[in-house]
This record gives sequence, structure tokens and C-alpha cells, in this order.
Amino acid sequence: MDSSPIWQPYTQMKNSAPPLKVLRGQGVMLELEDGRQIMDCISSWWVTIHGHSHPVLANALYQQAQQLEHVIFAGFTHEPAEQLARKLLTHLPKSLTRVFFSDNGSTAVEVALKMAYQYWCNRGETQRTTFISFEGGYHGDTLGAMSIGGSPWCPTFQPLMFPTDLVPFPDTFDDDPSVEACEANTLEAIAHLLKQNPDRYAGIFIEPLVQGVAGMRLCRPQFLQALELIAHQAGVLLIYDEVMTGFGRTGNFFACLKSATSPDILCLSKGLSGGCLPLAVTLATEDIYSAFYSDDVNKTFFHGHSYTGNPLACATGLASLELLEQNPESFQAMEHQHRCYLEKWLWGHPKVERLRTCGTIAAMEIKTDSQSSYFNSIGSILRTRFLQEGLLLRPLGNTLYLMPPYCITSSELEFIYQTIRRVLDDL
Ligand SMILES: *Cc1c(COP(=O)(O)O)cnc(C)c1O
Repeated sequence: MDSSPIWQPYTQMKNSAPPLKVLRGQGVMLELEDGRQIMDCISSWWVTIHGHSHPVLANALYQQAQQLEHVIFAGFTHEPAEQLARKLLTHLPKSLTRVFFSDNGSTAVEVALKMAYQYWCNRGETQRTTFISFEGGYHGDTLGAMSIGGSPWCPTFQPLMFPTDLVPFPDTFDDDPSVEACEANTLEAIAHLLKQNPDRYAGIFIEPLVQGVAGMRLCRPQFLQALELIAHQAGVLLIYDEVMTGFGRTGNFFACLKSATSPDILCLSKGLSGGCLPLAVTLATEDIYSAFYSDDVNKTFFHGHSYTGNPLACATGLASLELLEQNPESFQAMEHQHRCYLEKWLWGHPKVERLRTCGTIAAMEIKTDSQSSYFNSIGSILRTRFLQEGLLLRPLGNTLYLMPPYCITSSELEFIYQTIRRVLDDL
């Protein structure tokens, strides 16, 4: 008999080990019920940017809970949402001026899809029903977000999804000799689609700089600049899913800043609340906003959720953003540390290839006999081994990656690399 009634996400309940019960978290450490201490090397589900149970976030939450826990967000607003929206905009390209709240990353993407499509409808172009997106892309688990995604578990739901035109993601790594050819190939494919059917596309959707779930696949800033140019020339919307790359992950506040590009629509979640509460935003340019701004009721953006703009989540979001502002070195300096320890512990190791870093993210492929894929069994073998060593690491197939909270110390980071080295030596 199962001892728990809980059906866990992304888990084959029949043959997975029972979940580990966590009693408390502090900084990079998690304490389990059985007394073990585990180092969180992936910021939980990529959200815990300042570490667990941060006192500043806890205090912001406590203060807000005593004042206003929630209020309907249509016809009402509140200070935490107003302040968070304004502060967010100061860190983003000037062309983004409007902030639409929701409560998780998938939903931020759904909002972007509906906003982009209705933008064209409100301008009388109802035929722009299709999006261009990237092979391997992940935008969330709701049906719209899955439709534009290219993840390997999507085929089951294919009959429920709307069609999208997928193009190859020009992923690259250190000393990649073919990156320019790959980028040219993708840009050509997009230009071809846009030329063949100039009136069919609402927008181009991309995870800028890093495709997360696909296996921390990196693309170059130059590619995003070329993509921005193509989108503008063709007059389609450029939409960035920065749900994972936002809030310092790429070593800059946002991937759009790091690549010096400006999307028309931008999706944020994960690190937005500092990993405390579900919260998301979809940002838009004034041009998009003004297509909805009308005396015609049908041009209203009819979308919203019960917990949209929750005050508790917004208060922690504001406190989290202030922490980032106070200490940007926490995420700006990590790439250098990754590089040093990669070089010291893993460079030239016979079991690793395609080493790469982007800000606070480091990734590599573990060489196996079977093909690289999300379902490669080396992932679960490594996961178990690392847990025995006191590390929370969750490889994506044979892609091993680190995405630590920004509070990690240099010696803690080195300890992780040292442990990885030892585990790979024994493999
Ligand atoms: C996690 C993620 C999402 C989905 O966010 P949820 O909050 O899990 O729904 C969307 N896009 C990207 C790039 C993500 O990494």
C-alpha cells in the first residue's frame, strides 16, 4: 500500500523511490526528516534565487500578511503590485511599458499567446493564428504552452494541441566550430516561413540565451540580435520566455539586457517572487497595449485568475528584487567561479563533453553509450548517486547542470565540482 495519497508531478509513481520529506531549508541547505543535510545545487525547481528561508523575504511576507493577504485584482489594486510593476520596468528595455500579472510561468506564456493573437485581431488581422517557435523549447505544461513547445513528452497530447512551425535552435558550446552555420540555417528557415506566408504569423517565441528543459542549450546574443531584426522587418511580434532566464540567472538581470535585444512581449515567473510564492508577469510594449485600449468592449483583454497579483507574492517579489539590486555581484560573479572550477575539476575529463556556462548556469553532457535524450537513464543513476553524496542535482537526461542559489559560497561551489569529479571517476 502507498503510504501517501499524493500523486507527484513528472513522476512514474510505480517505480520511483518515495519522495524525501524536507523539514526545513536554510540558504543552500535542505534538512531532511531523517536528519540528512542536502545541498540544493539547482535552486529547487529553478526558483530559489536567494536561497531557502531568506529572512528578508520571510519578513516581507509576514508584514504583508498582517496588512492585506489578497484582494480581487479587477477594479482594485494595491501597493505591492504597483511598486513591483514599476521597479520591474526600471530593469527592462524602455520599450516595455505595461505589466500584466498572473501566477505561474505556463500561465505567463498563455497570456502572451492570447495577447499576441488578440493584438492582431484588434487590428483587424484575424488570420495570424500561427507562431514560430524552437525545437526542444519548453514553455510550460498548459495546452497552449505545450503547443509551442518541442519537448519529447508532448506527443501524447498532440491531438489536443494547435499547430506551430518549429525551427532548429542554434545551440552552441565552448569552441563550437559550426555555430555560425547553425545560426544561418535557422535564420534562413525563419525568413523562408515569413516570406512564404507573410500574413500567417502572430509572433516568434523563444527562450532567450538558454533553453532550460531542453538541457541548458545555449545560443549566442548575436543570434537574438539577428532574430530581432528579422521579426521587426517582417512585422511579427518577438516574444521572450524569460521564466527561467530572468532575475540574474544569465549573469545579467535579464537575458534581453545581456543580448541587447527588446522583445515585444516578455514572460517572467520562477525567480520573480524569490522562490517564495507562485507569481508571474507578462510585459508588453505600449504599441501592444494601445491595440486593446478602446471604447469597443470586444477589444478588452479578457483574461485573469483568482490569485492574479496576489499581495503576499508581490511583497516577496519586491523584497527579492531589492535584494538583487543591493547585491548584483551575487549573480554577476558566479560565471567566473563556474569557469575556474570547471577547469580545475572537469576540463578534459573523459566522461564529459560540451562544457558550457551562462551566468549562474553551468552544464555539460555526460558521455554514455546510448543516445543523448531527456529519457537517457544515466540521469536517474546520477541523481541517486549525487543524493548519496548530499547533493540535490537533477540531470536532464545525460545533461548535468548546476543552477545554484546566488547565496552559495565559492567553497560550497567548489565542493560540488569536487564531488561531481569523484562520482564521474567512479562511473
Ligand atoms: C518552468 C518554465 C515554464 C513554466 O513555468 P511554471 O511556473 O512551471 O508553469 C515556462 N517557460 C520556461 C522557460 C520555464 O523554464
